Amino acid sequence: MLVEEINVRCCIVGGGPAGMMLGFLLARAGVEVLVLEKHADFLRDFRGDTVHPSTLEMLYELGVLDDLLKRPHQKLQRLALQIGDSTVRVADFSHLPTRAKFIAFMPQWDFLDFLAEHGRAYPEFHLRMQTEAVDLLQEEGRVVGVRARSPKGELIVRSDLVVGTDGRHSTVRQKAGLKIIDQGAPMDVLWMRISREKNDPEQSLGRIDRGRILVTINRDEYWQCAFVIPKGTAEQIKARGIENFREELGRLLPHLRGRLHELTSWDDISLLTVKVDRLETWYKPGLICIGDAAHAMSPIGGVGINLAVQDAVAAANILAAPLAAGAPPVSVLERVQRRREFPTRVTQRMQVLAQNRIVSRVLAADKPLSVPSILKLMQRWPMLQRIPARAIGLGVRPEHVKTPEMRRPHRNAVAS
Ligand SMILES: Cc1cc2nc3c(=O)[nH]c(=O)nc-3n(C[C@H](O)[C@H](O)[C@H](O)COP(=O)(O)OP(=O)(O)OC[C@H]3O[C@@H](n4cnc5c(N)ncnc54)[C@H](O)[C@@H]3O)c2cc1C
Repeated sequence: MLVEEINVRCCIVGGGPAGMMLGFLLARAGVEVLVLEKHADFLRDFRGDTVHPSTLEMLYELGVLDDLLKRPHQKLQRLALQIGDSTVRVADFSHLPTRAKFIAFMPQWDFLDFLAEHGRAYPEFHLRMQTEAVDLLQEEGRVVGVRARSPKGELIVRSDLVVGTDGRHSTVRQKAGLKIIDQGAPMDVLWMRISREKNDPEQSLGRIDRGRILVTINRDEYWQCAFVIPKGTAEQIKARGIENFREELGRLLPHLRGRLHELTSWDDISLLTVKVDRLETWYKPGLICIGDAAHAMSPIGGVGINLAVQDAVAAANILAAPLAAGAPPVSVLERVQRRREFPTRVTQRMQVLAQNRIVSRVLAADKPLSVPSILKLMQRWPMLQRIPARAIGLGVRPEHVKTPEMRRPHRNAVAS
């Protein structure tokens, strides 16, 4: 097997939202980066699809927002929930102090392709697909690179900094021996797609009924459906048979009943295990983790991508200048954690509260659900819908790009 050895200033492990955004920003600031992504492409279904107003604002600051919005997407300006038979509005993004006053629903692979395309416009940006980091190189207590595998053979990457952006099952954080604080999650998600027809409603919708939570996301040609189940019950559901499962879905989605035969077997349905956790310390000499690798997020609020992107912006702001000079000292890595730990803690706290107070209760309910008083109040005074819009759309401590662009893009890729 071929062994290749390369040197790079910064090696980013994982081409998700955190890794691709950080790679793009560091390359734009003139720092040589290599992003390793273990899959051959970005086409995977388990990813969330939401690009939030604070991320859109940041793309505006980078001058690439119009480019992103040329790609197929749906705009969600008001968020509604169906509880039992009532539809209630829960968030109104139209008053946010941002350019784009909506959530853009865009398949995540399109968003990642977009970041890759913009990153590739800089000579300092390198991306290796189908390259999986399997171990860290460590010398005298310091991380000095990674060992990776690709179809061509083994790759040894030596770098001044390794950034772990390899998601909630991070190899990097495991190999670094960083301590994880698990906060638990009472649910898992069954993920499936059902075809969409022209006369179907436009809006993506969350549906809550006794014992059931279902989210249907409009992906133009099909509905991406997320069916929330109590943690660890997937096998019981499977044991009751696919026919039984289709009937259950049919009760929640009467207008899609005629298409549920598309779910022919359990192969058409993926189980996504939900985790909420956080690293006690996000770094060690020569290494730092950000995004889900530092703090796995629950799907509640659909804020994980946004938080991962915000981490990347903060990390680039803090790391770009020190990296240009060499290996950043631990005090600089600590600044990244200090900057991002507060928004992470607050967001996870809200997610865990929602999991325990709302999700667990709904999943355990055997009576029809009524609309909670707080939501009734929001229908009477729509101004109140701006509060959840701010929490979801902007989050805590939104970041702004402070890294300079060291040189103009060298290719036409951005214009295409
Ligand atoms: C069911 C579910 C639904 C969700 N829905 C939403 C939503 O609608 N909106 C939202 O904002 N968030 C959602 N989230 C959360 C969101 O997916 C994550 O918070 C977000 O993707 C984190 O981004 P990341 O870049 O840190 O990690 P990831 O998106 O997990 O990316 C990690 C990348 O690293 C790669 N990788 C892993 N290991 C290696 C390795 N060893 N070597 C090289 N590459 C590697 C992976 O292939 C992947 O591309 C959801 C989560 C779940 C579980």
